[in-house]
Amino acid sequence: MVAPVAAGCVIGVDVGGTKILAGLVDPGLGVLHRTQRPSHGLTRDELLARLAELVAEAAAAAPGPVLGVGFGVPGMIDRRRGVVAAAPHLPLDGVRFEALMAERTGLPVAVDNDGNCTMLAEWRHGAARGCRDAVTLTVGTGVGGGIVANGGLLRGSSGGGAEIGHMVIAFDGPPCQGECPGRGHFEWYASGNAIGRAGLELARDMPGSVLGRELAAGREITGALVTELAHDGDEHARAAIRLVGGRLGAGMVSLVNVFNPERIVVGGGAIAAGELLLGPAREEVARHAMPSLADGLEIVPAHFGAEAGMLGAATLAFEELAG
Ligand SMILES: [Zn+2]
Repeated sequence: MVAPVAAGCVIGVDVGGTKILAGLVDPGLGVLHRTQRPSHGLTRDELLARLAELVAEAAAAAPGPVLGVGFGVPGMIDRRRGVVAAAPHLPLDGVRFEALMAERTGLPVAVDNDGNCTMLAEWRHGAARGCRDAVTLTVGTGVGGGIVANGGLLRGSSGGGAEIGHMVIAFDGPPCQGECPGRGHFEWYASGNAIGRAGLELARDMPGSVLGRELAAGREITGALVTELAHDGDEHARAAIRLVGGRLGAGMVSLVNVFNPERIVVGGGAIAAGELLLGPAREEVARHAMPSLADGLEIVPAHFGAEAGMLGAATLAFEELAG
C-alpha cells in the first residue's frame, strides 16, 4: 500500500521551562514525527538555536510541504508585535520571537502563550470541543490558563490574557514564583508545586508518617511523589491532594462566577492525581459557586496529556498560517 501524500503539515513546538517538544503534525492532528530536548540552563542564543534545530529536524521528516510553525511559550506574549513580553522561566524577555524564528527557520511563524495553545487543542479537538464558553487549567509547576468566551479564544488587548495562575487569592500572600512581581497568586496555592509544599508540611509535622519517613530518607517531597503515595493509599498524601483540590475548586468558583463556562478542563502534570484532585474541586464549586452559573457545568480531565501544548501550537499554525 502506498502511503497517502500529506496535504501539508505544520510543526508545533511547546517551549517549556525545562524541555522543548516539537512535533510534525498533519491536518488530522496526527503526529508524524516528534522530538524533545532540554531547555533548562540555556542562554537566549542557545535556546533560539536549539528551537531552530528542532524545527529543521521535524521539517526534514515531512513527506510534503511544511506550511508553518506554531510556538507555545510560557509567558506573556504581545501578539500584536510577535514579541515575548515576559517569560519568567526562559531567557526570552523582550525577544522579537516571531520575526526571529521566521528568519531562522525560513517558515511562517505564529506564537501564543502555552496556556492558550492548550485551550486551543482542547477546544478544537479535545475535552472542550463544541463549547462556546470553557476554561482550561494546566496544573503543573504553576497554573496555566486558557479561556474560550462567547465562541472565541480570550486573549485580551495585547494578547497576553488568561493568566489564571496569577489571579490574586490573598493580597498579602507569599511572593509569586519565578519573576512574577505579584503576591498570593492562585498558582502558589493550587499548582502541582503546591501539592509538594502541602506534602512537605505534613511530612515535617508528622515524622512518623510515610511522607515523614520519605523526607527523613532524603527524598525531595514533590507533587509527583505525593501523588504516587496517594495512589498507593497513603492517607496523608491524600489529605495534601484534597487540600489543593479544594483550593483549585475555590479558584474555579471565581471563574464560574465571572465566565459562566459550560466546562472546565483540567490538565498538566497534577492531573495524574485524577479524581483525588478533581473530586474536592467539584465539591467546592457545588458548595460555593452561584448555583445558576454552575448549573450544567462539567469539570473534566484534559483529553490531551503531555502533548497538549505542542498540539495546540500546531493547531494555532494551521489556523493562522495555513488558511
Ligand atoms: Zn504570579
